[in-house]
Amino acid sequence: MQQLKPRTKFYSCGIVYQQFLRDVLARAVHRGDDLPKFETAAAAHFGSAHAVAVPMARVGIYLCLRYYLQSGQQVATSPYTLAEVINMIVCAGGEPRFVDVERNNAHLDPDQLSQCTDANLGAILVTHLHGIPADMRAILEIAKSRGVPVIEDAAQSAGAMYDGRYVGTLGNAGVFSFGILKQLNSIYGGMVLTDDTDLATFLREALAKFSPVRIGTLADKLAYLGRTQMLTTNPIFSLATFPLLRHGVLHDVGWINRLVTVETDLRLKHKLDDWYQHRLSASQARMLQRQLPQLATHDQHRIEHGRTYLESLSAVPGLVLPKVPDKGCATFAHFPVQVSDPPNLLRWFNFYGQDVVIQHFANCAQLDCFRAFQRDCPVASEVANSMVLLPTYPDFGMHNVQRNIQILQKYFEAGQPVFDGTNRLGLS
Ligand SMILES: *Cc1c(COP(=O)(O)O)cnc(C)c1O
Repeated sequence: MQQLKPRTKFYSCGIVYQQFLRDVLARAVHRGDDLPKFETAAAAHFGSAHAVAVPMARVGIYLCLRYYLQSGQQVATSPYTLAEVINMIVCAGGEPRFVDVERNNAHLDPDQLSQCTDANLGAILVTHLHGIPADMRAILEIAKSRGVPVIEDAAQSAGAMYDGRYVGTLGNAGVFSFGILKQLNSIYGGMVLTDDTDLATFLREALAKFSPVRIGTLADKLAYLGRTQMLTTNPIFSLATFPLLRHGVLHDVGWINRLVTVETDLRLKHKLDDWYQHRLSASQARMLQRQLPQLATHDQHRIEHGRTYLESLSAVPGLVLPKVPDKGCATFAHFPVQVSDPPNLLRWFNFYGQDVVIQHFANCAQLDCFRAFQRDCPVASEVANSMVLLPTYPDFGMHNVQRNIQILQKYFEAGQPVFDGTNRLGLS
């Protein structure tokens, strides 16, 4: 029987379940000095003076901004990111200053950034999307000339490199996520890397005021992880989950499509949610410490998958592909491609048995909840209407990569035909 592969796969679930179960049974979820141990190991691994574990990447961004910003200062940021990241700027007392992105990677565009001459700039927040490093040399130069710090959002890019260094260690602070969908998974969590000792001290003092995470909260999240993992594992995925999702996509069935819609809470927030304010447990630190040695192996698979997509698809006219900077090494959390009609392409992929996903980020510069900071970012709007993410995770398999490539090649050869249920692309 054909084994279909899901669009995403959680990393290191075995380690996560096993460690949690072991610690719950031994009543040791909060016991041990593994959090500082993990921080030391992570700082050494990535080549940074300090690593400070935080409850989520977004909280790391919030805390760094609290440290660097004076009230009312602007933070230059790409609008093509999670709305909640923009909220962190507001919560920290700053004002989002949206700067348009470049087309290929949807990264903050240095040319646009250099035109942002507002006197009130307090920091630059740069996101390394999809495991692809942003053009840091240009951004750091601008930051230096303006005398403002750079905070790197490396939430999806642990392991990616630029100029011989890991992303997240090039600016003043780098923020990582250990959420369930990220390369290092501790159910949720994150860390800040920095060489700035005063920032590290500030972060530790702020975190000391947070409360320890509740074991029940971890258990709830794990139950969700377990359910989702079951539905995305074969044979259930091939026999039930994918056929249902495919039916939803091909026949436009609202309730099915809503099952996999990412619920984004699009509200302007001025205050950090209460449940963001806690510390990671020693148990989560142990999960992370066990995963750190696997990161490079996982990266290697994604790099191979990403390079194969890039090389094979570069000859397809009209398809917008990522561009890895000269000095960069991308780890491709996903492989982003941009097309003019993502829902139509999604139907073709589903028809041919491939599960892919449309990137759900909006152009935050146009969102109603952020209208106070509204700005014209035409490229971000274009990107938000065209981005499809192809899987790259380690056990996705090269033959599935090749199949996705074939579908795209045939789709473009045929002139991007609208799927009507009867036409075909000429694939087996
Ligand atoms: C996942 C992600 C975040 C948020 O991470 P949390 O740990 O959930 O706060 C922020 N930015 C980017 C680019 C992400 O991919």
